[in-house]
Amino acid sequence: MEQSRGLRLILLPLPFQGHINPMLQLGNLLHSKGFSITIVHTKFNSLNPSSHPHFTFHSIPVDLSESEKACRPVSLLNAKCVEPFRECLATLLSDAEEDPVACLISDPFFHFTRSVAESFELPRILIRTGGATSLVVYAAFPLLKEKGYFPIQDSRLEEPVTELSPLKVKDLPGKDNSDPESIYQLITNMANEPKASSGLIFNTFEDLEQHALATLRQETYPNIPIFPIGPFHKCDSAPSSSTGLLAEDQSCISWLNTQAPKSVVYVGFGSIAAVKEAQFLEIAWGLANSNHPFLWVVRPGLVHGSSEPLPDGFLESLNGRGHIVKWAPQKEVLAHPSVAVFWTHSGWNSTLESICEGVPMICMPCFGDQMANARYVSHVWKVGVQIEHGIERAEIERTINLLMVEKEGEEIRDRAMELMEKANLCLKEGGTSYQSLDGLVKHILSIKSFAFGKQSE
Ligand code: UDP
Repeated sequence: MEQSRGLRLILLPLPFQGHINPMLQLGNLLHSKGFSITIVHTKFNSLNPSSHPHFTFHSIPVDLSESEKACRPVSLLNAKCVEPFRECLATLLSDAEEDPVACLISDPFFHFTRSVAESFELPRILIRTGGATSLVVYAAFPLLKEKGYFPIQDSRLEEPVTELSPLKVKDLPGKDNSDPESIYQLITNMANEPKASSGLIFNTFEDLEQHALATLRQETYPNIPIFPIGPFHKCDSAPSSSTGLLAEDQSCISWLNTQAPKSVVYVGFGSIAAVKEAQFLEIAWGLANSNHPFLWVVRPGLVHGSSEPLPDGFLESLNGRGHIVKWAPQKEVLAHPSVAVFWTHSGWNSTLESICEGVPMICMPCFGDQMANARYVSHVWKVGVQIEHGIERAEIERTINLLMVEKEGEEIRDRAMELMEKANLCLKEGGTSYQSLDGLVKHILSIKSFAFGKQSE
């Protein structure tokens, strides 16, 4: 891709772990295609430039206070980033020493980037870091509101959403939100944003979300080119570098090395999901009672309003059968031969990472797109099961055993291996994601011209 040499892409990730990881992976992919990569990041959840020495980093002075972090941080970031990002972009575009900028790649949750990019006549491509299916759900929100599904009523949680089969009302985002109007605005703004973009990139693959991708292409965004080029982390050829906001505890791997093949339950609920203290204790005893070895990520902040109190005598009762860390090298963990099952909150990155390693899932979704992801894992791809009826130790023990030892579990495990094969195939030469990535590079080269004219003035 010689034409991309000497061209720069500016990437602006939404500063949360589940959005940062795929953006940096995408940066690696496009770097491998010849582009120079500049990452603009906020002071809030700022990134470590030394983890990606092949990128250029620019920090903008945008931070959130503790109270702001807890309350509508995405809306606040949209408001606070406008001017600092505009100034940063002006500097980057006028820097004659650097490669000219072909386009901006940002997150559709950052809707403020539309007007800023337009003011510089800079093409803007969006990257949807969640799945295509959940974007179909988000795009259907005006219809769901019109039909009375939203705001969600507790009495209707188990009802099917016939327009979005097999989802139930409880799988829609906004269930526990005290301000449904603000969540409605956030979701509809986000789902509308691609309509005003030069393209939409997905961290997914055709075989996984064919139906949703077809709906988006034909109905939701008929005029916008769509590039499903995932799973990013599997085609990322850069040397493995941590993009974690917390330090990875490598003791996970040495502990996993001491365990039998396919014997361990890996438990991790991503970077934001939190549980109540009583639920935390049920999880702990459910794991202990299952009698299977487990590796559990107990992240700071995992328990609402508490510093993760493990039950008295808990660690002693395990005889080395459990290992607990604050943050794991998750992709490495999921690829480890000792891991049998992933108990996840069903964040999109975690879901894809598990699919890529053929690891069946126990899903315990908390908010946002996680419920739809979990429904697809359990009812469409059938590579996992959900804990749907409360977090309770006997139910946890039963679910772990279902996946680890029962006949139903064996079928789920087999399907997980089949889906993993499909994920691998799409990345090979001629595969759908491989081709789509080539299409994306050509597309960037075709839209760059106008921005160039401006920069050379
Ligand atoms: N992750 C990790 N170590 C952990 C927990 C999570 O590296 O101990 C990574 C995980 O591999 C994934 C990301 O953090 O790439 C979490 O993204 P996801 O979309 O699954 O969930 P979110 O944190 O956005 O809710």
